[in-house]
Amino acid sequence: MNSFTKKNTKSTAPARGSNPDRRQVKKKESTLDPRLFVKKAQPSGQEGFRTEKRFSELGLSSKLLQNIEGKGYQTLTTIQEQSIEPLLNGRDVLAISKTGSGKTAAFLIPIIEHALKDPRNYTALVVTPTRELALQIEEEFKSLSAGMGLYSATFIGGTNINSDLPKLARKLQVIVGTPGRLLDLSDRKNLDLRKVNTLVLDEFDRMLDMGFVLDVNKLVNRIGTRDQTLLFSATLEPGQKKLIDGLLSNPVEVKVSTGATTNENIEQQTIRVPEGQDKFEVLADLFANPEMEKVILFTETKRLADRLAKKLIQAGIKAGQIHGDKSQNFRNRMIEEFKNGEIRVLVATDVAARGIDVADVSHVINYQLPMTMDAYIHRIGRTGRAGKVGHAITFVN
Ligand code: ADP
Ligand code: MG
Repeated sequence: MNSFTKKNTKSTAPARGSNPDRRQVKKKESTLDPRLFVKKAQPSGQEGFRTEKRFSELGLSSKLLQNIEGKGYQTLTTIQEQSIEPLLNGRDVLAISKTGSGKTAAFLIPIIEHALKDPRNYTALVVTPTRELALQIEEEFKSLSAGMGLYSATFIGGTNINSDLPKLARKLQVIVGTPGRLLDLSDRKNLDLRKVNTLVLDEFDRMLDMGFVLDVNKLVNRIGTRDQTLLFSATLEPGQKKLIDGLLSNPVEVKVSTGATTNENIEQQTIRVPEGQDKFEVLADLFANPEMEKVILFTETKRLADRLAKKLIQAGIKAGQIHGDKSQNFRNRMIEEFKNGEIRVLVATDVAARGIDVADVSHVINYQLPMTMDAYIHRIGRTGRAGKVGHAITFVN
């Protein structure tokens, strides 16, 4: 066998059990201009984050208002100010607003208000691209709706589907999940999607891209007619206009940002590592700086994420990793340890790029150039949240 055939065989017939995802990301190189990743922060801080409008002006149920204030939210963020009212009025909404600007509460508060009006006949379905994001949204729902007798559940892959069934035994006002598991439950007739009144696609541009759109279309078709559809994200994909129009009916469009810009509270810089220099050494040296307190380090591949986590630990830096080849238990544990400070660095693939809200992430590091500007915006958006200042560092050759 000559070397050509050998190579050919290898690329078309991956070893049994190899993950198809891995082939996709392997050879691609980012074509983004490194100059895009240098930007002085122009922190608008809390000022840019919050408006003057108080939650008490919205005429919300008193228990809900109490829970909101109990979370320390005093005034509305800009996206909340612009979307909560139309949502309370039953309108469809397309909402674009920067990372960390409070989109979750913007859709959950009106959902809770609708649920309280008619708990026996109301169901909202919130669909997300990742399991961690689904869990996080349910957590926020629980804290906002505490003591109201409203019920929720999260249905995600990587868990035993039989453990979902007891949760479906009672009326749920809010269901959160990832598309695959929701469809499985619907296939098995355990979940009746026709009962959904409000559909939310969080990170909707991701939900409508190639990886998810078939599943999302299936879900939407099974839901059929509904009262409200809500689309939320920090980025907008111009090519998706038709899909979006097909989902929304006479929507209010709330665009707090253009959908193509990073959060101005993030200081962005690049580090050039010339060919031949040891990139890991440059990375490890960064951790001499005590300000690098809570760091998410993004890589393009799962394998590199594993390798970097291991090398960081060997270098005495507390690290863990999160990616699609890890069990859900492991992923949950890593997020937990990262939140409570047991690990300083979370090495991650893009599975952690969207939606994840961990307080006080000091730095996001891109070990490699991300493939798209949108990926960059979401990744670095894990820092500089809720009006705080954050830092992003991107390695370039
Ligand atoms: P996004 O979805 O826009 O990225 P999140 O909904 O995850 O943002 O919210 C980012 C952070 O801001 C969260 O920690 C959330 O608790 C906080 N937050 C949301 N709304 C308010 C508010 N009105 N006042 C203060 N903090 C808020
Ligand atoms: Mg969000």
